[in-house]
Amino acid sequence: MKKCLKILRRAARSAVRLLFPLRCPFCDGIVASFGEKLCGKCAGRQRLLMPPYCMKCGKKLRDEGELCHDCREKDHVFIRGRALYEYESAAGTLYRLKYGGRQEYADFLGEEMAFYLGGFIRETRPDALIPIPLHKWRKRRRGYNQAALLARSLGHYLDIPVEENCLVRVKNTRPLKCQNPKERQNNLKKAFNIEENDVKLKTVIIVDDIYTTGSTVDEAARTLAACGVERIYFVTLACGAGV
Ligand SMILES: [Zn+2]
Ligand SMILES: [Zn+2]
Repeated sequence: MKKCLKILRRAARSAVRLLFPLRCPFCDGIVASFGEKLCGKCAGRQRLLMPPYCMKCGKKLRDEGELCHDCREKDHVFIRGRALYEYESAAGTLYRLKYGGRQEYADFLGEEMAFYLGGFIRETRPDALIPIPLHKWRKRRRGYNQAALLARSLGHYLDIPVEENCLVRVKNTRPLKCQNPKERQNNLKKAFNIEENDVKLKTVIIVDDIYTTGSTVDEAARTLAACGVERIYFVTLACGAGV
């Protein structure tokens, strides 16, 4: 019986793959080989964000020093963070994940985050991963929250619980790309709230798709810290100019 179920499940998966072929997260081409997550052209060509990077926010460093220009200028609420890709090398992937309905990318991308950022994440000994929430109107329009998809995949591969409901977005801010840094900071004030009063988490990792100025992560971290979370880190898929 068990064997039968296994065969049926495998057949169902194959049928789904035939009807809805998996798309390569980097070029959006069809992934022809079963069991693969990237097309043959893109496999092994991902460009990771390599050192030197900022010891605080993980941004690629272009000059000497331990911190990027932003982190030398201002204090952050979070302790430290890392990103997997530089924005430029993952711009198309991010755009399609966020606005093009390509939810399926999250499985591969979360696995990559787990593989390359897993050491950093485990060292922090997190109680949970917390995705940056979308406002409910935006989530309804988009149908999903890309940060939550990434967090679920990452949590699955690293076996860390994901808390999706503790942080909520109470302000429906304009997309960050339409705002300058000062506007971002002001508009994000009190953008989040804690849904569950009884937060027992001490160490958390915030998960988002992109880190730009850090205002979003900082504001979420401020809300979490006010509720007793003591150590807040973050990981993002990419770091840079932003979409
Ligand atoms: Zn490809
Ligand atoms: Zn920095």
